[in-house]
Formats: sequence, structure tokens, C-alpha cells
Amino acid sequence: MKTRVPAELKFPQAETERLFLRYYRWSYRQQLRLSLLLALLGWIVFGVFDGLYYPEVAHSLWRIRYLYVLPPVLVLVAAVWSGRFPKLDRLFVTAAIIIAGLGVIAMAPVLPPEGRDYPFSGLMLITFLTYTTFRLRFVWATTAGLSLLVAYNLVVLRSGTFSSEAIVMADFFLTTTNLFGMLAAYLLEYDSRRTFLLLRQLRESRRRLWGVNRDMERINARLHSLARTDELTGLANRRSFYEAFGREWNRARRYGGPISAVMLDIDHFKEVNDRYGHQTGDEYLRSVAQVLSRAAQRAGDLVARLGGEEFILVLPGTVAREAARVAERVRRELEELALPNVDAPTGPRLTISAGVASLRPGEDNSPDDLIRLADEALYRAKEEGRNRVVCQG
Ligand code: GH3
Ligand code: MG
Ligand code: MG
Repeated sequence: MKTRVPAELKFPQAETERLFLRYYRWSYRQQLRLSLLLALLGWIVFGVFDGLYYPEVAHSLWRIRYLYVLPPVLVLVAAVWSGRFPKLDRLFVTAAIIIAGLGVIAMAPVLPPEGRDYPFSGLMLITFLTYTTFRLRFVWATTAGLSLLVAYNLVVLRSGTFSSEAIVMADFFLTTTNLFGMLAAYLLEYDSRRTFLLLRQLRESRRRLWGVNRDMERINARLHSLARTDELTGLANRRSFYEAFGREWNRARRYGGPISAVMLDIDHFKEVNDRYGHQTGDEYLRSVAQVLSRAAQRAGDLVARLGGEEFILVLPGTVAREAARVAERVRRELEELALPNVDAPTGPRLTISAGVASLRPGEDNSPDDLIRLADEALYRAKEEGRNRVVCQG
């Protein structure tokens, strides 16, 4: 996104310009209201000087000040204060400035020649406010400032009572003030436009950063789960199994209960791959995983794929006999699935062998001992002809 402000103070995209104008209105709303209030107070209070210094024409001055200028200006200021016409705020303020300025200019011919600095100073003050405090945009401020410069000249020239020296002098100061005012208004608006673009860029960067953060969290969660599960079966993998097993072991040790492990291995799985292909082998692995998941339903029960076609079931709070029953149920359920394995010497169905072991965690044993015992029992199950459950001891 670009942050360059065009020199002509107008963004080429209509939408950007619209958003900027809204931003501008809202940014200086309070500043504008406060400035208007102070200017209005000043206008009212200056009437005291009218009466104090020019008592002989005070009535004429007051008529201009309070009768011709004050009511329309009050209406315009009230309209801005109400906030009902936010898009017209700048137009109203410009109109109020021009009315007040014309009022001051109208006082010039009324005053005696020695009092002509009075409205001139007033006009200078109004010009200054026009270009700065109200934060009018360059185009509005310039419209108001130059209108008053022209009006002053018209009135002064037409009255014919001003010396040319006085006119040239006044014009020199008024014109210079206008030029510097225009420069100030231009720079102020230029800075506002730049701030607007930078804020927009900041918001956009923050939004993008949030998006990146959210993606990162999602990816992290996914990586975390990938690191802990076996992709093929969705069971816990070896690493996360050993973590959970350690926790269950310690819990059983604290509460003094038994903990059983069932080590399972598919019989003659090589023949499945050889005969039906790897894809079917994978499907079989998933089927075994499903049967095992159903068997491990109690809180604390763990199922994992340790690798290849080898699985483990850990059943805390379960004695060997009970664990063997669970293993036997798994073996039977799998047999009942009747997944073909015709080339297996034990065929023609897919079968599984299981070794069951049980320990009471204590000082003299470790999780590895339980795994080793279950492994030994599994080895015996294979030795004794497969498709069976062997219990350690
Ligand atoms: P046993 O009854 O003695 O266990 O015989 P087996 O054929 O099951 O044992 P063996 O260890 O000789 O072969 C295991 C086979 O499992 C070999 C390997 O190709 C296959 N295998 C290991 N992991 C996967 C896998 O993720 N997908 C598939 N389809 N096959 C696998
Ligand atoms: Mg095997
Ligand atoms: Mg094996």
C-alpha cells in the first residue's frame, strides 16, 4: 500500500478520498467545536471595545456585530455543534467565517479615519484563524481567506475615503498573511493525509500479522498432533505412547494397583502384502487399529501402534487374567472380520497373536520390564502356533 500523498491534495482513488474525508472530519471534530466556541465568544466580547473606543459610532458597529453577523453565525455554529450534518461542517464554518469577515469589513467605512486599523486587525485575526485553528482543508480555508481579501479591497476602494498608501499597506499585510496561511493549511492537510495513509497501513499490517499468527497456531497444533499420532491408523505413536505409559505407570505406583500390557502382532503379515499389495496391508492395519480402540474403552487405557504390524494395549488397574480376556476378545473379533490371508500357513484369515503381562509398579521394576514380559509372552504365542493369546508366568 502506497503512503505517498499527491501534491494536489486529492487521492486518485475515489474510495480512498472518501475514507480520508471521513477520517478528517472525525479527527478534528472536537478541535473544530472548541475553536468555534472560542471564536464566537471573542466575537461577542469584542463588542465591548466597540463601545469603549468608538462610542460615537458604537451603535452602527453593534448593529453589524450583533444584528447582521451574530444570528446567522450562531445558526451555522449550532448546526456544526449538533453534529447532524457532518458532511456540511466545513461548508458551514467557511460560511460563518465569510459572514464574520464581511461584518468586520463593513465596519471599516463606518469608523473615523484614525480608527481604521481596528477592523484591519480584526480581519488579520480572522484570516489567521481561518488557516489554522479550525483545521479547514486547504481548499475551504483558501476560499474563505481570499474571499475576504477581495471583499476588503472592494469595500475600501468603493468607499473612496482611504488613502492609497493605507490601501497598499493593508493589502501587503493581508496578502502576505493569506499566502503564509495557505502554505500552513497546505502543509497541515498534507500531514493529515500522510497520517491517514500510515494509520491505514498500520491497521492493514496488524490485520495481516493476526492472520499469520492464526495460521501459525493452526499449523503448530497440527504439527503437534502429527508428532503424536500414527498417520496410518490414527492411534498414538511410539513416542506419545511411552509418555502416557510413564504417567500411567507412576499413577499405578502411587495407588498401588496392577497394570497390564498386551503386546500384539499380526500373523504372517508379509503374506498379506505379497498377495494383496501394500494398500490392502494398510487397510488391514486400520481394521486392527479399530478393533483395538474399541477394546480400550476405560479411562487410562492406552492403545498405540509401536511400528510395522505391532500394537500395544496398556490397561491400568487390570490384572493379567482380565487383560488376557480383553486380548482374547480382540483376537476373536479380528478373526470374525474374516480378512483374507490365504497364503498364510495359519490362513485363510487374518489373525493376530498376543502376549499379556501384568505387574504391580514398585521399587524393583520399571515400565520396560512390563514391555519385556509382554514381548516374551508374544514370542511364545508365535512359537506355539500363532492366532492365540499367551499370558506371562
Ligand atoms: P509373523 O507372523 O512372524 O509376525 O510374520 P510377519 O510376516 O507378520 O512378520 P514380519 O516381521 O516378517 O513381516 C512384517 C511385515 O509387515 C513386513 C513389512 O513389509 C510389513 N509392514 C510393516 N509396516 C507396514 C505398513 O505400514 N504397511 C504395510 N502394508 N505393511 C507393513
Ligand atoms: Mg507379524
Ligand atoms: Mg512384527
